[in-house]
Amino acid sequence: MANTQREKLIEAISNPEKTWDIIVVGGGATGLGTALDAASRGYKTLLLEQSDFAKGTSSRSTKLVHGGVRYLAQGNIALVKEALYERGLLLKNAPHLVKNEAFIIPVYNWWKSAFYTAGLKIYDLLAGKLSFGPSRRISKEEVAERLPGINLKGLYGGVLYHDGQFDDARLAINLAQTCLEQGGTVLNYVRVTGLLKKGGKISGVVARDIETNKVYQLLGKVVINATGVFVDDLLQLDEPGKKPLVRPSQGIHIVVDSSFMPCADALMIPETDDGRVLFIVPWHGKLLIGTTDTPLNEHSLEPVALEEEIGFVMRTAQKYLTKTLTRRDVRSVFAGLRPLAAPDESSSSTKEISRSHKLIVSESGLVTITGGKWTTYRKMAEDTVDKAIIVSKLPPAKCVTKDIAIHGSEEVRNHDDFLSVYGSDRAAVLKLCAENPEWSKKLHPHFDYIRGEVIWAVRHEMARTVEDVLARRLRALFLDARAAVEMAPVVASLMAKELKRDHSWEEAQVANFNYIAEGYLLMGS
Ligand SMILES: Cc1cc2nc3c(=O)[nH]c(=O)nc-3n(C[C@H](O)[C@H](O)[C@H](O)COP(=O)(O)OP(=O)(O)OC[C@H]3O[C@@H](n4cnc5c(N)ncnc54)[C@H](O)[C@@H]3O)c2cc1C
Repeated sequence: MANTQREKLIEAISNPEKTWDIIVVGGGATGLGTALDAASRGYKTLLLEQSDFAKGTSSRSTKLVHGGVRYLAQGNIALVKEALYERGLLLKNAPHLVKNEAFIIPVYNWWKSAFYTAGLKIYDLLAGKLSFGPSRRISKEEVAERLPGINLKGLYGGVLYHDGQFDDARLAINLAQTCLEQGGTVLNYVRVTGLLKKGGKISGVVARDIETNKVYQLLGKVVINATGVFVDDLLQLDEPGKKPLVRPSQGIHIVVDSSFMPCADALMIPETDDGRVLFIVPWHGKLLIGTTDTPLNEHSLEPVALEEEIGFVMRTAQKYLTKTLTRRDVRSVFAGLRPLAAPDESSSSTKEISRSHKLIVSESGLVTITGGKWTTYRKMAEDTVDKAIIVSKLPPAKCVTKDIAIHGSEEVRNHDDFLSVYGSDRAAVLKLCAENPEWSKKLHPHFDYIRGEVIWAVRHEMARTVEDVLARRLRALFLDARAAVEMAPVVASLMAKELKRDHSWEEAQVANFNYIAEGYLLMGS
């Protein structure tokens, strides 16, 4: 296992003479994928993330590893084919985090049933050898059996198809670990605040360690801007006044107890009242319901779900559920921002803006990658590093990530086992928990999480704050914000001992976590 100690990693950026081959700014899916690609080709690679890995959009997805049935309906065959191929690679390389999931589309007449069956047959064909299983038409009775809790009123039947489902933030952490194992350096809580230039060309970055406020000047042959919805901030540093490249589009999810639809299958609603799709997906023992597509003019690391979006998701889901859904049933609500590549003409509808990625090289040599989706992060990374090699005239090396097993990679027999997300680390996590009787205790009566996982997250997964643990190592904040708030004091105390922090750190951590968690709690009845 690679050394994840912060002191060691900070040491790696402390030599001002050192020139990195590739510096990646941003530790979401895109940046981590790019850093892993670069490191595994043998380049001296550094990745800097201003907050925690996947703190931005990459922890706030619908958790689908998918070709995108919706894009098929839009006729975007090339995009779907590419994503289906990447879906297959992800299942191969991270089977501990990605699983095959059956999705059911409810249909209300023969014609729709035939339409979706035909469309999904094309989806199956496009997946080729990497198919997750054939789609098929199913009867109303089978829908009722597979999706207990679904409203059967007016239902004709269903169409079943297969896609992938995953844990986004945990994949991000595992990508960071894999990158370290491939010889790269990755650091969270180091923010890039400036760009170094020589003769008009980018020659590195200025970065600040958020924990110590220490500033570093880091030399790099090429700098990659993989900052998601923040790409324009870096582009502005490079070229003040440049036209924005990204248009943020907010998507929210609510999380409710699985009692609303106690089953293993997911529900896909293909046409909501405003022409979008909505998913109800089982995830870590709860149901994840979303999403929306709301154009915004601003971006933030903690976007907040709008009341209209919450209302839309609840109203739409309720039509398909028999049990009454109230605000009190919502365990958590979270919002994420899609870094969609903005169209040339201004458009008010983000549904129409391209979901495929955009790779641009500025006159200064800054390489910017944006758009795309989690599923295609590897391909985006490959394209980005290929481009960076040309821009910086690095000695060429071929991409090898198709065959790199991601940290923890191991076939999992039971994805319902809460420790299955650790994959090949599972035994080591249990061994650590056994070292101290306190560490085998549960963190919360409603969750399986055990205290030793907090220690593991600090020692091996670069967790620095209570929020890092409760939001992205364990997914408690996303699953049940109230329960997460209740877990925070114990997590802070365990972390304080491990990180040798005092009581005031512990108190500040809990206060900060409670403040963030407020955005995930839904008030009212
Ligand atoms: C609601 C929603 C649902 C989605 N569902 C799916 C899905 O089911 N399946 C799928 O495949 N895709 C999905 N996506 C798309 C996918 O989540 C995104 O494409 C992907 O996460 C984008 O990753 P990113 O790395 O580009 O951006 P981010 O994850 O936002 O990462 C950018 C990072 O850059 C950092 N950063 C910014 N400025 C600086 C700086 N100056 N210095 C250092 N670091 C900096 C930020 O802190 C951030 O962590 C969804 C997106 C949304 C919004």
